[in-house]
Amino acid sequence: MLRTRRNLAIDTANLERWLRLALLLGWIASLLAPAVSDAEPRPGADLQPRTRIQRPRIAIVIDDVGAKPGAEVGFTQLGVPITFSLLPQYRETAALAFRLQLLGFETMLHLPAQPLREREVDGPGFLTLRQGRAAFMRLLEHHLRAQPLARGVNLHMGSRLSQDSAAMARILERLKRSKLFFLDSRTIHTSVAYYEALQRGLVAQVRDHFLDHTHTSASVLEMLADARRTAETQGFAVVIGHPLPCTLRALRQFIAEHGSHVELVPLSKLMHRGLPGPRGGEDFTRRPRRRASPQTPTFGPSDRRQHSAAHH
Ligand SMILES: [Zn+2]
Repeated sequence: MLRTRRNLAIDTANLERWLRLALLLGWIASLLAPAVSDAEPRPGADLQPRTRIQRPRIAIVIDDVGAKPGAEVGFTQLGVPITFSLLPQYRETAALAFRLQLLGFETMLHLPAQPLREREVDGPGFLTLRQGRAAFMRLLEHHLRAQPLARGVNLHMGSRLSQDSAAMARILERLKRSKLFFLDSRTIHTSVAYYEALQRGLVAQVRDHFLDHTHTSASVLEMLADARRTAETQGFAVVIGHPLPCTLRALRQFIAEHGSHVELVPLSKLMHRGLPGPRGGEDFTRRPRRRASPQTPTFGPSDRRQHSAAHH
C-alpha cells in the first residue's frame, strides 16, 4: 500500500489505472497539439524552419574553439545556447567538447580543409585535394573520432576544398552515415558544399553572416544587427563568429538590447533536409556556376564591406 500526504490509500492496481489514464491523456494532448515541432522536417515537407514562437530565430556558431585554451569560457556564460565548433587537432579537444556538452551546449567538428592559398594553413590535419582517397578518409575518420558526440560539421577555412564536388562528396557521404548535419560556412561564393549536401539528403544549412571579420565590438554589433534583419526577413539566420574578446563584448550587448526580440537557438534547430526553395534571395538549390575567376572570394551584401582574407 502507498500513502499520499493526504492519507489517501492507493493500491497498486489503482496506481496502474491512473498511469494508463495519464498516458492516454498525454496521447490525446499530442494529437491536439499544433503540428509544429523543432524536430527535423521530413524530406519533401515544407522545408522552411518553423517555430511556434513568432520571434525570428538566430543560431550563433563560434568557430575555432580549442585553438586558444579558455577563450570559449566567456561565451558559455552568456546564458544563451551558443553552438561551439571545435578544431580536432588539439590534444584537449575531446575533453573540452565533453565539458561543453555537459554544460548543455551543442558542439560541432570544425574540420580543417584546404584554403585557397597554402600559406593560410594554420596547423596540422588539413584535408586537401592532394591527398589520395585512402589518406583523405583516414584523416577524416581521425578527426571524427576526436568528437564522438558532435552534432554536425563545418569546415575550418576550406575555400579551395569546398569548391570541389568530389572531395565534398567523400566528406558528406561519411557524415550522412553518422547522421551528422553539415553547415556550409560559405567562405567563398563558389562553394558547392551546401548543394552537394542537399543532393545527398543530408540535414544542412548555410551561414548567413560572419560576425568578426573586423575585430571591433562596433562592427560585430553591426553584423548582429544585420543578422537580426535577415532573421526578420527569412524567419531565421545563421551567424558565425570566433572566440574573440570583441565578439564576446558585442554578443553580451546584443543579448541585453535585442534578446527579447529574437530567439537564440542551437544550430540544429535551424537545419533542413532536401531541396528548399530560394533562400534569402539566393537560390542555393542550383549548382553554383563557376565564374571566370573562382579564386576571388566574395561575400553576401552585408559581409562585403567588412571582409578580410583572414578566414578562407
Ligand atoms: Zn575556422
